Amino acid sequence: MTDEQGTSSAILVVGGGISGLTAALEAAEVGNDVILVEKNPSLGGRVAQLNQYFPKMCPPSCGLEINYQRIKKNRKIRTYTLTTVKSVTGGPGNYEVTLEIKPRYVTCNCAVCGGCATSVPDQFDNDFNFGMDKIGAVYLPHEMAYPRRYVINKEALSEEGLKKLSECKNGGIDMDMTVETKTVRVASIIWATGWVPYDASKIDNLKYDSSDAIITNMEMERLAAPSGPTNGKIVRPGDSKEPESIAFVQCAGSRDENHLEYCSHICCMATFKQMTYIREQYPDAQIYVFYIDLRTPGKYEKFREARMKDEKATFIKGKVADIIANDDGSVTVVAENAQTMEKIQQTVDLAVLATGMQPSVAVDGVPEGLKTDNSGFIISEPEKGIFSAGCARKASDVVTTTQNSTAAALKAIQVTRRGRING
Ligand SMILES: Cc1cc2nc3c(=O)[nH]c(=O)nc-3n(C[C@H](O)[C@H](O)[C@H](O)COP(=O)(O)OP(=O)(O)OC[C@H]3O[C@@H](n4cnc5c(N)ncnc54)[C@H](O)[C@@H]3O)c2cc1C
Repeated sequence: MTDEQGTSSAILVVGGGISGLTAALEAAEVGNDVILVEKNPSLGGRVAQLNQYFPKMCPPSCGLEINYQRIKKNRKIRTYTLTTVKSVTGGPGNYEVTLEIKPRYVTCNCAVCGGCATSVPDQFDNDFNFGMDKIGAVYLPHEMAYPRRYVINKEALSEEGLKKLSECKNGGIDMDMTVETKTVRVASIIWATGWVPYDASKIDNLKYDSSDAIITNMEMERLAAPSGPTNGKIVRPGDSKEPESIAFVQCAGSRDENHLEYCSHICCMATFKQMTYIREQYPDAQIYVFYIDLRTPGKYEKFREARMKDEKATFIKGKVADIIANDDGSVTVVAENAQTMEKIQQTVDLAVLATGMQPSVAVDGVPEGLKTDNSGFIISEPEKGIFSAGCARKASDVVTTTQNSTAAALKAIQVTRRGRING
C-alpha cells in the first residue's frame, strides 16, 4: 500500500466519463482538491465511442479534448486510471477510501514510440469496437485515448510477444507490476460510473445472436466512426454487404418490465442521428423505424422533424414481435402496425436494435453502502456527502449529464466547506 493522500477538503469522483470529468473540473476550478478515478486505461467513457454527437453532429473529440486540456492544466486534479474503489469508511467530511489500481505494465519511461505495439504479434477482441475487430496486446485504448499511454493485456501475450517486449531499450515495460492499493482521504464522493448498453442477447424475440445482420445502436456508432472497425463504412458485419435497407427497432428491451422498465430518453434521438449517418453513405437506402412512441422532447423536436421529412424513410408505430434470420444474410422484421392493425413482415439487409442505457453498477455490482433505485440508478444522499451524477443517476443525453454533474460538484463542495464553517 502506498502513502495516504488527499485532504478533508478533497472530493473523490468515481468514473472518468463526461460526467466525472465535468464534476472533477467544476470542483477543481473553484479550488478543491479532486481525486478522479477511472476503471478503464483512459478517460472519456462512452462518449469516446460515439461517431458524432447530436444535436450539433460534431465528433466527440470536440467536447472531450477541451476537458482533457483543462485537466492537464489543473494541478488540483489527481487522476488514477485502471482504478476502482475497494472500500469506503468514515463519514461526510472525513471519508477514508481504499483504491485498487490494476497494473498497466508500462512505466513512465515509455516514450510512446509504438515499437513494441507493432512488433508484438498477439491480438485480442477489441472491446472498444464491441468485438467487431481485434486490437494488439500492447495497445493505445483508442485513437483519442487520454492519457495517451500504452497498456498491455498480459493474458493475451504469447511467448514470442513477451520476448519482443523484453527488447524495449527505454525501460518502458515492467511485466512484474502487480495490483496496488492506495488510501485517500476525502470529504465527499461523487459517483459518476455511467452506463452500459443493455445486453441485447437477453431480448429473446429480437434474436440478436442469430444473425450478423442484427446489430445494436452502439455497434452502429462504431461502424460509422472513422476510427471504427470498418474505418467508418457502414456495412453488414460478417459479409460486408452495403445495406440497401435498414430497420431500426426502437425500445429494444426498454419500457419493458422484463428488461429495462424505464425509457432511456436518448434512443429515439440516437436513431434519428444514425439515419443521418446512413443517408450520407447510402442516399437511396430504404429506412424503416419501428417504434412505440417517438420521444424527442424540447429542443430536439426540430431534429426529429427534419429526419421525418426523409422520403425514403417509413415510420411504423408498432412493437417488433420477432426478427427472423434468412439464408441470404438478410433478416425479416415482424410487427403489427398499431394504427392500421396490419401485420408487417419487412425484410431488410440490416436491423439496428435501439437498446437502452443500464446503470453500470446494476451490472458490475452496487458498491457497499450505496443506495440505488430498483433499476440500479444511484441515489444521492446529501447528508452523507454522497452524490450521483450523469447516467449513474439517470439515463440522459450529454447536456443533461453535464448539468447534473455541475450540480453534484456544487453539493460536494458544500460538504467540504461545511466542515470549515462549523469548525
Ligand atoms: C446509441 C447511443 C448514442 C448516443 N448518442 C448521443 C449523442 O449523440 N448526444 C448525446 O448528448 N448523448 C448521446 N448518448 C448518451 C451519452 O452516451 C451519455 O449521455 C454519456 O455517455 C453519459 O456520460 P457518463 O459520464 O454519465 O457515463 P459514461 O460515458 O458511461 O462514463 C462513465 C465512466 O465511468 C467509468 N466507470 C464505471 N464504473 C466504474 C467504477 N466502478 N470505478 C471507476 N470507474 C468506473 C466507466 O469506465 C466510464 O469511463 C448516446 C447514447 C447511446 C446509447
